Amino acid sequence: MNTVVYPGSFDPCTNGHLDIIARAARLFDRVVVAVLVNNAKTPLFSAEERVDLLTEALKDYDNVEVHSFSGLLVDFMKKVNANIIIKGIRALSDYEYEFQMALTNNALAPEIETLFIPASKDYMFLSSSLVKEVAKYGGTLTGLVPDCLISVINERCKER
Ligand code: ADP
Repeated sequence: MNTVVYPGSFDPCTNGHLDIIARAARLFDRVVVAVLVNNAKTPLFSAEERVDLLTEALKDYDNVEVHSFSGLLVDFMKKVNANIIIKGIRALSDYEYEFQMALTNNALAPEIETLFIPASKDYMFLSSSLVKEVAKYGGTLTGLVPDCLISVINERCKER
């Protein structure tokens, strides 16, 4: 079975993330979405909440699972029995950092490869930070995040 891991902060998940997951789910047997528990940052949603939001948004996909992880991605990959990392690339600026990460992960665990999927043209502008900015100032999130998550994201952004 071909398992791939799609790691990220997903704070919150956007339609850009979901587009990459949907495309990966068509290409591979099993997609594990890995939510990074990043203690250094103060996220809008806790890791547990981000897992719940993604799980809700992805409930129609039989071959997608959502987990959280901390520490090294390569260690998490071993736990879920995967050796392919999927990354979405929006612009050349994403590539520089992602290339560095891909080489680092490969140096740590040579059996692990990173595959880049180019962003769809409809979502190449979209990021979690942009969603937070739009929600903070009362703009509409329609088309930016899954419809089922709009109210919870709006509420949380207003509380901040
Ligand atoms: P962000 O950069 O939006 O804060 P994450 O750290 O959660 O996002 O990103 C996880 C992965 O998803 C990264 O590989 C990132 O490049 C990719 N990604 C983020 N937004 C998009 C998008 N709109 N289209 C394609 N890939 C994306």
